[in-house]
Order: sequence, then C-alpha cells, then structure tokens
Amino acid sequence: MKIGVLALQGAVTEHIQMLFALGTEAVPVRLPSELNGLDALIIPGGESTTIGKLLSDYCLLEPIRRLAKKGFPIFGTCAGLVLLAKKVLNLQTESIGTMDIVVKRNAFGRQVESFETDLKIPALHNGSFHGVFIRAPIIEKVDRSVEILCQLNGKPVVVKQGNLLACAFHPELTGDTRLHKYFLDIVAGDSDCKE
Ligand code: GLN
Repeated sequence: MKIGVLALQGAVTEHIQMLFALGTEAVPVRLPSELNGLDALIIPGGESTTIGKLLSDYCLLEPIRRLAKKGFPIFGTCAGLVLLAKKVLNLQTESIGTMDIVVKRNAFGRQVESFETDLKIPALHNGSFHGVFIRAPIIEKVDRSVEILCQLNGKPVVVKQGNLLACAFHPELTGDTRLHKYFLDIVAGDSDCKE
C-alpha cells in the first residue's frame, strides 16, 4: 500500500511518520504526477486558504477532484476537512469540494482558544481518543449519506462518506495511530480505484 500526503503546507511530516509507524509506505505529494500509483491521499491540517491556493497553483485541484469522484480514498484532517467539504461558509479560495458536508472555518474561536479533549470514537478499538483541536472547523451540516463517527458538544468531528474520511482535529499530533489505521482499513477494502 502506498499513501500520499499532500505536502503543500501544514503537518505533513507528522502524517508521514504516523504511516511509517504503521508499516505503510508514505510519500509527499506536491505535483500532479506524484498522484500516480497511490492507493490513497491524506490532506493534512495547516491553513486551508494557503493549501487551497497552492492546490490551484500546482494544478492539483482537478486531478484530486477526479480521483475523489472515482472513489479514491482521501483522509482530510482539520484544514484537510475544510478542503474536502462541498460547502465552506468562510473560505475565499477554491476547495476540492467533494464531501457532502457544510463547514465553518475557525469556528471554535481564535488560536488561543485551541484545546485538547478526550473523544469517544466507537468505531475505534477501545473508543476513547485524544483530540487536538487547533483553530478547528465546525461541521454545521451533513448529508444523510455521511456517517458521523464522533461528535463533540453535539457537532460532528469525525465523518465518513464512502472512501472519504475527515476529522476536525489533528490525530497525527498524538502517538495514537488508530484513526490512521482505520483509514488504512478503508483503503485496504477498496483496491479498485488505483490511479
Ligand atoms: N484554521 C485553519 C483553516 O481554516 C485550520 C487549522 C488547522 O488545520 N489546524 O484552514
């Protein structure tokens, strides 16, 4: 299995290290040609406006949209979740726009209001998961076809739609590989959509 990590800006190395820890080949992706031969893609947290602009500048927006339409597995964390959403209430750049969720950026407040909290994610073995929320987005609405895997204060913070997985926090900043493993299991169940 070979997983790409979009490497335009943000927490790239941490995702790559987490995939290595799971014994999975992981490569940074900066160019459209680097999408070839991948089994899945992770879009890291960072700044969605910056990543969105660079996705256009590096001609990655269309190829990633095409892949997502074909069922290619993509995991978006924090800014990555923002970029996957079909509708973002306050994003000035284009986004990949492939997941049926409505998102508001920076909705938990300013940088100083970032926080960490223990979450319950029943789909993971042992359930409890430490969530690191850094200027995180809020998912305001989800389509009926979107599975809510975890909520915080009544708002979804981990969602899945087909082969798309997204979370509002930073699992790569903890030592806990279970959410990445969960994604790899999605990827393993779907070997037909290699680019
Ligand atoms: N505030 C950022 C944004 O909207 C997301 C922050 C993050 O990825 N930690 O892009």
